[in-house]
Amino acid sequence: MDESVGRIIKVSGPLVVADQMGDARMYDMVRVSDARLLGEIIELHGDRASIQVYEETGGLGPGEPVYSTGDPLSVELGPGLIEAIFDGVQRPLDTIREQVGDYITRGVEVNPLSRERKWDFVPGVKKGDKVQPGDIIGTVQETTLVEHRIMVPPACGAGEITEIKSGEATVDEVVARIDTGDGVVDIKMMQRWPIRKGRPYKEKMGPHIPMITGQRIIDTFFPVAKGGTACIPGPFGSGKTVTQHQLAKWADAEIVVYIGCGERGNEMTDVLLEFPELKDPKSGEPLMKRTVLIANTSNMPVAAREASIYTGITIAEYFRDMGYSVALMADSTSRWAEALREMSGRLEEMPGEEGYPAYLGSRLADFYERSGRTICLGDGDREGALTVVGAVSPPGGDLSEPVSQATLRIVKVFWGLDASLAYKRHFPAINWLLSYSLYLDNVASYFRDTIGEQWNDMRREAMKLLQEESELEEIVRLVGVDALSARERLILETSKSLREDFLHQNAMHEIDTYSSLQKQFAMLEMILIYHHEASALVEKGEIDLDLEELFALSVRERIARARYVPEEELKELESIKNEIKEQVSSLAGEGGEADD
Ligand code: ADP
Repeated sequence: MDESVGRIIKVSGPLVVADQMGDARMYDMVRVSDARLLGEIIELHGDRASIQVYEETGGLGPGEPVYSTGDPLSVELGPGLIEAIFDGVQRPLDTIREQVGDYITRGVEVNPLSRERKWDFVPGVKKGDKVQPGDIIGTVQETTLVEHRIMVPPACGAGEITEIKSGEATVDEVVARIDTGDGVVDIKMMQRWPIRKGRPYKEKMGPHIPMITGQRIIDTFFPVAKGGTACIPGPFGSGKTVTQHQLAKWADAEIVVYIGCGERGNEMTDVLLEFPELKDPKSGEPLMKRTVLIANTSNMPVAAREASIYTGITIAEYFRDMGYSVALMADSTSRWAEALREMSGRLEEMPGEEGYPAYLGSRLADFYERSGRTICLGDGDREGALTVVGAVSPPGGDLSEPVSQATLRIVKVFWGLDASLAYKRHFPAINWLLSYSLYLDNVASYFRDTIGEQWNDMRREAMKLLQEESELEEIVRLVGVDALSARERLILETSKSLREDFLHQNAMHEIDTYSSLQKQFAMLEMILIYHHEASALVEKGEIDLDLEELFALSVRERIARARYVPEEELKELESIKNEIKEQVSSLAGEGGEADD
């Protein structure tokens, strides 16, 4: 039942101010007017509350009632999350459509998780077992790809199982009872959690395992660790969406939470239409079978965007707590920040840079800090990871604007999309000179142990060549290519190969769309073997060495086509390595002197 009733004194877009709200607390959820619009208290002065309303406020006026629910804005966590499409405050869009049609009418109250659907609960504990918060008491096969682990909620004390059910149950039925000493607690498959508060864990650990994405420029040069943070800023059309989709498809995460924070115009609709079409490449099943989608459609007020990233990350944390590796994608945090700015303006707060509130940076940090590799609550040392990737869409691609700057101060990986690369159709248009990953040291031993001793040295050498290329290009632009020495021309040639044969990766090509680490290693190795063999020849300084001939060796075409070699046929790449050596040394022969 509603606890107390306040009165509206002012309405300003999504902001409603009400007085007589003495009993309310910050971030409490309220229902505004008799239309029962969903709102959240975001400021309190005495008994006067400023309320962010998540629905259209047209037609509201002073004097109308505000009902306080006494609870913070929370999400429902339990079976039924996977495959769902929610809005920013966890209303299930499909159920709403069934009830009220394509346009969400105001004040609809629908349960986020279905109360009718039955799930087959398989108990994992028995009567008399001792359990504590976080312990898994049973499982539900939620989709073909996801086993939902039912946990003792954090708020429940430790105790003894006095009753445990088995078989069909709805999320609202009691499946277990725990005697905590202070009384018996009923455990349902569903629990609730306030969205603005991170879910508890035992311990946070340093990330040291890379999240493999199959995208060569990311895995080899700018890897993100499981439990880490990354951002993709880029102007319109530079490939943010394709990159996010590639990550959702290929990243080795068990659960994907995708938050569409309402890009302009129809972009969100694209996500809603496209995402359900995507297939999980490993199982052939629809990607949605391990995905939760949060979407802010364009007919929803901006305030709901503000809540959406918290709704999304709370759901992601819940799956992390089960011991899964979860990848969360937020597209785009710029739209979220704009919603924050709009509310701040209406609250008449002192504006910071470009009108964003002064707390923009700390809010962003709070969000990204909910990522991490953790030891979950409960018995044992179950490990979960939550990796957060945020897209940023700076107006005009200008990274000096506040949202990009604040984000760059927090995240550890920066994949800088570049309009000029996209214009040249070099995809993914991640600029290798500007991007960085601060996890390189953390994940170095993983790469060394699983892929090969030389991996880190090869990476470093390749990056150095690319940097040298950019300096040499400057010289070429000024005085022409003839001013370069043979060694320098070879650097340009190898770098070109690195760019075109390795960094360039076509997301639309059946095979090229994903490269295993083994394949990435083999491809990089080939390019560098060519470089070393050719360098040795050039260093000898033979006068009649024909560089054009060296650059045009037929084996180079094979290097270029390596990206289209299927994963099952990687052995084929071994033969290319020998061929490189043979072809280059055959040129040495022509110089007169035999190669030893
Ligand atoms: P944004 O979301 O930044 O506006 P998109 O992700 O929609 O940009 O990318 C724009 C276009 O660029 C895509 O339609 C596609 O043709 C091309 N593109 C982007 N990334 C790739 C890629 N990795 N491989 C092939 N094409 C790409």
